[in-house]
Amino acid sequence: MKKRLKPDLYLNTVHELDTAALKTKGIRAMIVDIDNTLVSWDTKEPDEKINELICRLGSEGFKICILSNNSKKRVEEFNRHLNLPAIHKAVKPSKTAFRKAMNIMDSNPENTAVIGDQLFTDVLGGNRLGLYTVLVPPICKKEFIWTRFMRLIERIVLNKVL
Ligand SMILES: [Mg+2]
Repeated sequence: MKKRLKPDLYLNTVHELDTAALKTKGIRAMIVDIDNTLVSWDTKEPDEKINELICRLGSEGFKICILSNNSKKRVEEFNRHLNLPAIHKAVKPSKTAFRKAMNIMDSNPENTAVIGDQLFTDVLGGNRLGLYTVLVPPICKKEFIWTRFMRLIERIVLNKVL
């Protein structure tokens, strides 16, 4: 059985996404986290590199849906120019929003990847539905106490499953 807290793939940043390899695996849709995955949690808008990445992924035929546990305001502001399908207050790792994202993209667990920085929301949520899960290290060090605490737990768990 697949370990629920083990990502299928680790990358140093989202910019390392190998689209050819993903296509070989049959991936054609991506559920993407914002905070500390695409930009640091306190960065309001995507930077130029992120804009280029999203644009390239789209032109290579990938469908993308933003899935964030953050507020409507945060997600809408970030997504203003990207105009991607986006779900706020997703309550990851709850399955509901992951299913909704796949519905929007007309994709399924076999052809959808999840990209995020947190084991207990992004990876766990994706693994619960059998999606292809990609973990990146969080971009920003300045974090809320609770998130910092969860990082510590994540490191302990990662050391055990790897
Ligand atoms: Mg995040």
